[in-house]
Amino acid sequence: MLLETPMIATYAAVVATLLGLVMGSFLNCLAWRMTHGESVLHGRSHCTSCGHVLGPADLVPVLSWVFSRGRCRYCGERVSWRYPATEVLCAVMYLSIVLCYGPTLQAIELIAFASVLLVLSLTDLDDYIIPNATIVAAILIRVAYLVAVGATGGGNTLELLRDAAIGGVVVAVPVLLLALVMDHVLGRESLGGGDVKLLFVAGMYFGWRQCLFLIVVACVLGLVFSLLGQRGTPEPDDSALQADAADAADAADPANTHVTDGEPEPPANAHLIPFGPSIAAACWITMLVGESVLRWYLGLFLL
Ligand SMILES: [Zn+2]
Repeated sequence: MLLETPMIATYAAVVATLLGLVMGSFLNCLAWRMTHGESVLHGRSHCTSCGHVLGPADLVPVLSWVFSRGRCRYCGERVSWRYPATEVLCAVMYLSIVLCYGPTLQAIELIAFASVLLVLSLTDLDDYIIPNATIVAAILIRVAYLVAVGATGGGNTLELLRDAAIGGVVVAVPVLLLALVMDHVLGRESLGGGDVKLLFVAGMYFGWRQCLFLIVVACVLGLVFSLLGQRGTPEPDDSALQADAADAADAADPANTHVTDGEPEPPANAHLIPFGPSIAAACWITMLVGESVLRWYLGLFLL
């Protein structure tokens, strides 16, 4: 579409990739601070092991990790491969969105949304928490975009906002009801409150039709992740004691630990598979192919 000229296409792709690498580094830091009770706005980046403040050379995405061979330059402690991996993932997400949508306002909206999805995936992986701040941020991004679309003659702003709200409710309410029934049948929390809120957000962005596809993708990914998670050994959890009391209700419900009678000593939280990253990944896939899948699906009935 807008990427007709190779010059503009190449330029947009390069900018998106570089921005993705830098933002990936920043979002990693943001997620870490959210789960460790540090201020998001204040304080310099520091080594999580020795606390040494990081210089500009330590903050170059991916390369700093490669050149220091995955260790802190000051204390020699290992730096998780997850940091460069997240930076690369962020760059891939940004690039894919720009290639799909061109240098448009919608691409900016979806890049902002993808950034939020990355943060909540990291916090959910670490602490089984989808912070309310990320949900609010995602909603505000959607509202700002729709207001901008309305202001530039792309439709009636109030109708756009109303449709987004309806999309959220139509997706989240049946899921919530299903989750409550499942909780009752299974005798434990089946789906976290954060997951339901995230599906509300997905409904606002994609509408209920594309969300049918999104939920199927999320479930398949959730299944794959849980199978992979069972094969790998669970990581030692240093962050559990830092779990934020306010958000703990979204995540590890203490009732969960009492229901696994017959099973051989499950490690703490091992039965809890964070579903947030699966929904987030499904959101990203829906951004890229949701529209085409919907058209193909409707075509099956209209032919
Ligand atoms: Zn260090």
